Amino acid sequence: MSADPARTHVLILGGTTEARRLAQALEHEPSYRVTTSLAGRVAAPVLPPGETRIGGFGGTAGLAAWITGHGVTHVVDATHPFAERMSFNAAGAGALTGVPLLALRRPGWSPGPGDAWTFAESLEDAAGLLARRGAGRVFLTTGRMGLHTFAHLTEPWFLVRSVDPPAGPVPPRLEVLLERGPFTLPDERELLARHRIDVLVTKDSGGSATAPKLAAAREAGVPVLVVRRPAVPAGVAEAPSVEAALRWLAGPDHRR
Ligand code: NAP
Repeated sequence: MSADPARTHVLILGGTTEARRLAQALEHEPSYRVTTSLAGRVAAPVLPPGETRIGGFGGTAGLAAWITGHGVTHVVDATHPFAERMSFNAAGAGALTGVPLLALRRPGWSPGPGDAWTFAESLEDAAGLLARRGAGRVFLTTGRMGLHTFAHLTEPWFLVRSVDPPAGPVPPRLEVLLERGPFTLPDERELLARHRIDVLVTKDSGGSATAPKLAAAREAGVPVLVVRRPAVPAGVAEAPSVEAALRWLAGPDHRR
């Protein structure tokens, strides 16, 4: 497919609220053509406006070929902060094609007064910390894809919340809640109490949609294990918000 040379063709690597909001913000801008790419992990994704494509590109080279073949002029990597492989591929494809790349990353969370947070460097590290705690009632909100990392833990009981059912190895003592955020503080409060949760495990995803669990944990005195996010690949420009990404797109260095 060849691109209309008069238009800026933005490829948004999606899967987040920010990716959807960016597509919405550009929807009525006639000088922009927008394609959002989704990995295809969620069975019934909430689709953004504009064009969409679903499924992997086939690594860095596949993404570079897609960018060139579809006349993409700008790439915004608005994937989840923990989608490390995709961000790495985007950086590689940006270098191969010379197409400007921006990483749109909402800020991470920070502990406040009353929070009892411990940081883990990775899911594996979090699993090691849980193993040392032994038995307990764990609310695991790190997503279904990494569940195999906790599968060897036989002592704790896990409450897992995910959009789609887990596939692959899971811990033996497990209850699954199929739910999609945003979640409210009263609901999170009730959930922690009903399941007598004594530790919450979360990625440092940032954003407001899933933050109420942190406030509920603080109120209930429940400790939180926070998995630190991977770094954005070296040399990639970063924006903390949709508004900042829009400014980057409109900037003199980036308009054609
Ligand atoms: P990942 O490990 O970084 O990526 C693995 C592979 O999936 C990539 O190499 C790529 O395949 C494909 N892929 C990932 N994101 C894609 C996208 N937006 N469009 C097309 N292909 C994509 O990714 P992940 O952590 O599994 O996350 C997958 C998707 O879920 C992402 O879009 C992310 O925004 C969303 N998400 C992730 C998390 C999380 O905690 N990781 C949480 C919420 C939402 P090819 O190499 O074949 O191109």
